Amino acid sequence: MALVDYGSSSSSENEETEEIGPAPTILKRPALPTAVSLLGTKIPRQETQDEEEDDTDNSALHGGRIRSFKHERGNWATFVYVPAFASVEQLEDFQSEVIEKLEPHVQLQANESLHLSLSKTVVLQYHQIDEFTRSLQQALQSCTGFNSTLHMLQVYTNEERTRTFLAVQLDAAFTAKMSVLLRPVDLVMRDYRLPQFYEKPSFHVSLLWCVGDYQELLTNKLKELQQLLEDHDTLKLPVNEVHCKCGNKDFIYKLK
Ligand code: AMP
Repeated sequence: MALVDYGSSSSSENEETEEIGPAPTILKRPALPTAVSLLGTKIPRQETQDEEEDDTDNSALHGGRIRSFKHERGNWATFVYVPAFASVEQLEDFQSEVIEKLEPHVQLQANESLHLSLSKTVVLQYHQIDEFTRSLQQALQSCTGFNSTLHMLQVYTNEERTRTFLAVQLDAAFTAKMSVLLRPVDLVMRDYRLPQFYEKPSFHVSLLWCVGDYQELLTNKLKELQQLLEDHDTLKLPVNEVHCKCGNKDFIYKLK
């Protein structure tokens, strides 16, 4: 059921493909971010797969360079998510529109690899990866997929309030189904004594981010931005698979 997929040729220097479950489907998907796009050009390390340590938090996917946990050799930043492939073109157009619109007020950056998180970013040791991902595979094996949509914009900050995000939320009609999918993920986190997801999860796909606490400014602009978003077609989020990104590895769990 799970396979490891490492995206595009541009990221293949540090990444490999390894099937660890029964016959996977070959997927056509947007490229996963390269190390440079994840970590930025100012980070000098060039790492090799398997010897690599990864000390970034989920913010790496937003290009953020502020660590939420201490750098230690052998730490693998790990999070579980649903990729948002289906609406990527509309969302990318919207990202550009918002960046332009808010440019005089705040410098926003577009998130890459758009996704809906099902976990916080946690740290695994290299020797835990296999067992952890197999636990996830087991926990998710009876879960069924569903179609959902995204609609309302919302502003989030990270727990330290060092970054602000503009995100589009999962339609409330699908919260119950997404919570069913979250439960096994949370149970695996608990088994590994890792932090579970938020007590009151607010499922969303982050679209734009900036450094600092701009919650108030962005909240004041929400109505205007929502109108901009309404000009786009319905934002579909088919939930057919769950991914676990662990350092440079991406494990994929197909749902029934
Ligand atoms: P993400 O796109 O999943 O990285 O989420 C962006 C930010 O939203 C993260 O830094 C989370 O800490 C933050 N966040 C704040 N409150 C919540 C919540 N209730 N549920 C999910 N994410 C949240």
